[in-house]
Amino acid sequence: VRPALQVTGLTKHFKTAAGIVRAVDDVSFSIGKGEIVGLVGESGSGKSTVGRCVVMLHPPTGGSVVIDGAEISALRRGRLRRLRTGFTMIFQDPATSLNPRMTVRDIVAEPLVIHGMGRSGDHPRRVAELLDLVGLPHSTGTRFPHELSGGQRQRVSIARALIASPSLVVADEPTSALDVSIQASILNLIKDLQRDLGFACLFISHDLAAVEYVADRVLVMYLGRVVEVVASETLNERAAHPYTQALVSAAPVPDPDEQRSRQRITLSGDIPSPLAPPPGCHFHLRCPVAQDVCRERPPALLPGAASGQLVACHLVSPGTVD
Ligand code: SF4
Ligand code: MG
Repeated sequence: VRPALQVTGLTKHFKTAAGIVRAVDDVSFSIGKGEIVGLVGESGSGKSTVGRCVVMLHPPTGGSVVIDGAEISALRRGRLRRLRTGFTMIFQDPATSLNPRMTVRDIVAEPLVIHGMGRSGDHPRRVAELLDLVGLPHSTGTRFPHELSGGQRQRVSIARALIASPSLVVADEPTSALDVSIQASILNLIKDLQRDLGFACLFISHDLAAVEYVADRVLVMYLGRVVEVVASETLNERAAHPYTQALVSAAPVPDPDEQRSRQRITLSGDIPSPLAPPPGCHFHLRCPVAQDVCRERPPALLPGAASGQLVACHLVSPGTVD
């Protein structure tokens, strides 16, 4: 079966006054129909840029993006516009992504209007369906974004993202701008909607625990490259890349005994600038087990020990049982 999303050799460079920023460097992955894939990494890892390239907010510098069999990265504007109902994005901060001068019902209905979908007489019924789905009362429809709480606003942007029944949803840090107390309810909402509606989802976050909770598989990015792909349920036990292991060791766990038994791996320094990525393995400046070869050659992303696992590290041989 063809995947909902196939990304191959995706590269994105930005020209800036300081030079060329190599934000995304040869990234490949796919998302199956109805699958949630998490993309995790520090700020500056390129994860948001991958998301924006997937929905064509940024045209890629190289590589291809295929959604439901259509290579959208090769399409011209007119045809891309027609396909745009098939994929959509939920942004980090609903306060800035929602038009403050529009009512909630107009915001939610806007994709139908833009794409000329359905008769406008039917839009109110469809908006009401979506408000039900995201758990907002119908009376919210006549209100403006500033009259709502942050969590309600994010529910509005989710309703808007889903009204045209997309097959692929990219969610970029959908809970990071929200109060900690309501983050879990939005994560659960996205999980429930994905299960009920069956869309494929690329869930982007710097928060490993959130990604592990929501996603079926986790992609770990470091300085523009994917360094590991691993199933969420085996992430804690089977993470094989030293960077992923450091992220896992730093993530809070609910069981305090487990936390104590876990050796915390502290990384020194910040992620280097994508203006001048280090040669070889991009992680070698911070890697606690780096070897000479790591400074010279970039490691390939190769199968690891767990089923479906991929790891880019010279010290992790393909197929070795750890
Ligand atoms: Fe560390 Fe080398 Fe593996 Fe990179 S390739 S993660 S520097 S051991
Ligand atoms: Mg970001």
